[in-house]
Amino acid sequence: MSALTPPLSDEQRQALQEAARFRLLADNVPVLIAQFEVSSNRCQYANRRYAETFGFTPESVLGKTFAEIIGAEAAALIEPAVARVAEQGRAATYERTVVRPDGQTHHLEVNLLPHLDEQGCAVACFVLITDISKHRRTEAALRESEARLEKFLLASVEGIVFHHQGHITDANPPLCALTGYRRDELIGRFVLDFVAPEEREQVQAVMRDGRELRYDSAILHRDGTRIPVELIVRTLVRDGVTLRMNIVRDIRDRVAAQARIRHLAHHDPLTGLMNRAAFMERLQHSLQRAGRGEERLALLFIDLNNFKRVNDSLGHLKGDQVLVTVAERLRACLRGGDRVGRFGGDEFVVLLDGVRGHGDVLAVVHAVLSVVEVPVDTDGRALSVTPSIGIALYPEHGTDAHALLQHADTAMYEAKARGERQFQFFHPEMAQTAYADLVIESQLREALARGEFELYFQPQVEPETGRLVGAEALIRWRHPERGLLTPDTFIAVAERHLLMVPLSQWVLRQAAEQARAVQRAGLPPVPIAVNLSHLEFRIDGFADTVARVIADTGIPGAWLQMELTERMLMDDIQGATATLQALRRLGVSIAVDDFGTGHTALAHLTQLPLDKLKIDQSFVAGLPHDRGAMAVTRAIVHMAQDLGLRVGAEGVRHRAQWEQLQVWGCHELQGELVSPPLSASDFLAWAQAHSGRIPS
Ligand code: C2E
Ligand code: MG
Ligand code: MG
Repeated sequence: MSALTPPLSDEQRQALQEAARFRLLADNVPVLIAQFEVSSNRCQYANRRYAETFGFTPESVLGKTFAEIIGAEAAALIEPAVARVAEQGRAATYERTVVRPDGQTHHLEVNLLPHLDEQGCAVACFVLITDISKHRRTEAALRESEARLEKFLLASVEGIVFHHQGHITDANPPLCALTGYRRDELIGRFVLDFVAPEEREQVQAVMRDGRELRYDSAILHRDGTRIPVELIVRTLVRDGVTLRMNIVRDIRDRVAAQARIRHLAHHDPLTGLMNRAAFMERLQHSLQRAGRGEERLALLFIDLNNFKRVNDSLGHLKGDQVLVTVAERLRACLRGGDRVGRFGGDEFVVLLDGVRGHGDVLAVVHAVLSVVEVPVDTDGRALSVTPSIGIALYPEHGTDAHALLQHADTAMYEAKARGERQFQFFHPEMAQTAYADLVIESQLREALARGEFELYFQPQVEPETGRLVGAEALIRWRHPERGLLTPDTFIAVAERHLLMVPLSQWVLRQAAEQARAVQRAGLPPVPIAVNLSHLEFRIDGFADTVARVIADTGIPGAWLQMELTERMLMDDIQGATATLQALRRLGVSIAVDDFGTGHTALAHLTQLPLDKLKIDQSFVAGLPHDRGAMAVTRAIVHMAQDLGLRVGAEGVRHRAQWEQLQVWGCHELQGELVSPPLSASDFLAWAQAHSGRIPS
């Protein structure tokens, strides 16, 4: 074939190449293209997309009129526009909606371009049709979302603010309500002006990075109040502008609740002071800091005297008031850096930072002692709640929190033992007693259950005849390893840890049983004297306990005697009088133990329902050589006689003592010379031998 066709000229080849390029281009652009002859309205050219859109091929569509291609109806609509292009030689654009055979609606943008000859007359008309359906759909969606956003803005109960590069473009009514500004006052202003100063840096960083997130921040109300808020930040485009949308949620309630929870977790709800956990944390922290430098610390352990009495007698409400008052005063007398905590009950702790020496600590201790004294009116009786303070210093008394606390506590006990309104610095010997205390306490708890206690009895005799007239019950602990222990090794510990109450009840019962045993053995009954502890004597209903023991064992009350110290009587004269009267009604007699060592006002001796005074052994020991002891003992004996009370002496070891006491007219003698304390069975044997007997 190539041999027959004449070779193409360069121009012809170039024209062909151009035509091919045009067709390739025209068939591949997403536009419908056609050319119509103006005079005939017939199609001179159509690209594939155009032809196929109307159900033709690029070849079959050639020569067809508008009407034949797009239908008569559509042609009628567009013919005026085509005519205008032809007449005026100017381009025209219009939009048309067509429904395709598949039922889909299409939006078309039609561009008509005239093809002009040399005289400027339109000979042909180019038709360029673009399917803008997608564009229209996006627009509609945008309009819808705009409407939705608008609705959301107005309906939201949370504040919403829009800004463009930091400048507020819109805000909804709740945001206006939250900030106190009108919408028009907000629009155009810089968003950071409404952020709390300390939050600005973070808000600015979020804005700069364009991050979408949720975070807590704070804004300012018109009146300057800081409002904690949660911000939810999103970026969106509105009317072609990139905006930042902030949902501003008021979290004042949440923040307040969280603060309350945090406070509760770290504070004592009654006084608002730090609780144990928070104080210990604080102490650890201070120790760590002090450990790095040369700093010294002081830990004060404060326990209230008389608090339990206030609580027991006046009720918890009054007790709570006292605690609150003490807390307030402690807080008021400390420096800003000092920490106060309450460990529960009437125990307070104070941590002093930056202590230079004892002087610093003493200043605080004296301040505490002088302000923490709460007078309480208990039924007309003035009672004072005062502090006892134990002090441990870092680093000399301990380097960890636990040891310091333990040592301050130990020192506090020592202070308390010395009386009210006292303080005591820790010293190492205390640690040993404290340790022994701890060991004894744990063993004591089991000793009662294991029956390790025994009650011994020390006889009391008439000096003239040596006849048995009574006995004192004295407790002993048969310790599995340490053997027979006397009360001085364990009574104080038992009292401190409230173990004395069950122990005393056991003693009372055993004493009553022994009185019964004496009678069963056919001997003349004698009163068995029981030593009372501070604790049990103060418990309400103590007399009832005694009554129960008497009833249970079936003995007359007169077979029991109660020994109390002067201090027990003087601490609470009215309370003591009532209890003593109740005991007296049971037939039980009352003896004042260790008489002469306390400070009983003589006037009270006549008021209290007493039966007997027991002269303290320290005076008896001085007989007959110590003039002072002689004078005091004689005075006590004579005073007792004048008051109509019986008088006894304990610790009688020598014949001379016996004789002297007998001369003065002392009624009863007790001591090693008579007999040491004896076990229950030995005592019975001894009693058998000494009932009505005159000693050899
Ligand atoms: P107390 O009531 O003054 O008891 C007298 C103490 O003097 C007893 O000591 C007794 O053994 C001791 N004693 C008696 N005669 C002599 C003597 O000639 N020379 C010497 N050196 N001592 C003598 P004990 O049994 O060690 O009791 C000490 C304290 O323990 C008692 O002092 C009493 O206050 C208390 N106690 C003893 N038993 C009980 C008890 O069951 N309950 C309570 N609450 N306290 C008790
Ligand atoms: Mg006694
Ligand atoms: Mg005594």
